[in-house]
Amino acid sequence: MAAARGAWCVPCLASIETLQELCRKEMLTCTNIGITRKNLNNYEVEYLCDYRIEKGVEKFLVKWKGWPESCNSWEPTKNLKCPTLLKQFYSDLYKYLYALKPNKKGVIKNNIKSLDPSLSDYIVKKAKQRIALRRWEEELNRKKSHSGTLFVENAVDLEGPPIDFYYINDYKASPGVNTLGEAIVGCDCSDCFNGKCCPTEAGVLFAYNEHKQLKIPPGRPIFECNSRCKCGPDCPNRVVQKGPPYSLCIFRTDNGRGWGVKTLQKIKKNSFVMEYVGESISFSTHQCSEAVPCVFVFRSALYLWVGLRCEGQESYSELAIQKYR
Ligand SMILES: [Zn+2]
Ligand SMILES: [Zn+2]
Ligand SMILES: [Zn+2]
Repeated sequence: MAAARGAWCVPCLASIETLQELCRKEMLTCTNIGITRKNLNNYEVEYLCDYRIEKGVEKFLVKWKGWPESCNSWEPTKNLKCPTLLKQFYSDLYKYLYALKPNKKGVIKNNIKSLDPSLSDYIVKKAKQRIALRRWEEELNRKKSHSGTLFVENAVDLEGPPIDFYYINDYKASPGVNTLGEAIVGCDCSDCFNGKCCPTEAGVLFAYNEHKQLKIPPGRPIFECNSRCKCGPDCPNRVVQKGPPYSLCIFRTDNGRGWGVKTLQKIKKNSFVMEYVGESISFSTHQCSEAVPCVFVFRSALYLWVGLRCEGQESYSELAIQKYR
């Protein structure tokens, strides 16, 4: 935002706690650090950190939204109006305990007087992770350019948003890679599905059926209509260019394979889900190694994305997707 206004941005060296204290002192709101008009003068529970029974009264250690952790306080259950956070707290607590002693569910439930420090530490980490993942989810949805919603989910471990992940909507060209932005030719069909459309002119098959499902075998090029075609956005030969039509979920896999993507709805076979985009690097930049797949992409003058093989590879992988803009 600041850059758009022509201002310079520098990272803030003060901690969030310090900024929160300064804001409260000056009676200023700042949603980025959790101080809203609602909690400037009132206390709002951000998450619950710990539990104990004190003189027969159940109490929770509360982290207050927009207040530093040094202001955390023990509160009796009757003071708490946060059923969702309470439910979340117990869910995390039992998940942790059951993982330790899977056969003693009932015993655990009725015998908690206070929490072991390792357990309260886990609950706090889980709460912080949940907040970080929610922020990441909001950021992804701000950046995306397609119609569906993106969800983030980690029910497996304490891992937060990946620090080396950048969400992009289109290929990123590295230096030396030619990225032509405009198509040169288009079609002038009145009916692209039945006419002599772009794919026919290019000597390849029309990629979709009338329901916009792929009907050509894998590995074949897809030539979609582009900005020079006379047809409109409802043309049956415009599918990939419209972006993912579904809501998708980035989730933590439970088999040690890191983050994955899944759909939350049924998708018919051969329907377009999403593009696999990344950074395009030139042949000379690519360092061939066992760990890195030796297929990468160039954008050619024919508006194709073509995967080439590295020296020493026996198979030749080819992937071609029409440049559609
Ligand atoms: Zn056409
Ligand atoms: Zn066309
Ligand atoms: Zn068309």
